[in-house]
Amino acid sequence: MTTEDEKARRKQLKDDYLRAEQAANAALMPIDRDQLESLLDHVDAALEEAGGCDDSPRFTDEWAEQHGVDVDRLHEGLLEWGGGCDCEVVANVEPELVFDPVRQPRERPDR
Ligand SMILES: [Zn+2]
Repeated sequence: MTTEDEKARRKQLKDDYLRAEQAANAALMPIDRDQLESLLDHVDAALEEAGGCDDSPRFTDEWAEQHGVDVDRLHEGLLEWGGGCDCEVVANVEPELVFDPVRQPRERPDR
């Protein structure tokens, strides 16, 4: 096996891994992409109006209640992506990351 083959094989394994990991995380998200966009819009606007985050997901919860989404399950899904409070939800939970099948791995180059 040449080095090139080996590299391709490793990349394939890594892609498979990323895809599986993402599918597992996406499965925990109880809302779809449109709902997530709506949630982010709501939280973003509410944070601006409130003048910042109080380290709770209060506007996230507000949105969930308005949309009949189970708050506990939503928290669980958002936490997988680093969304513990309202400002983290806006900053960390990107629809592209959650719902696009395989992204370009953002990682250090191989040493
Ligand atoms: Zn916050």
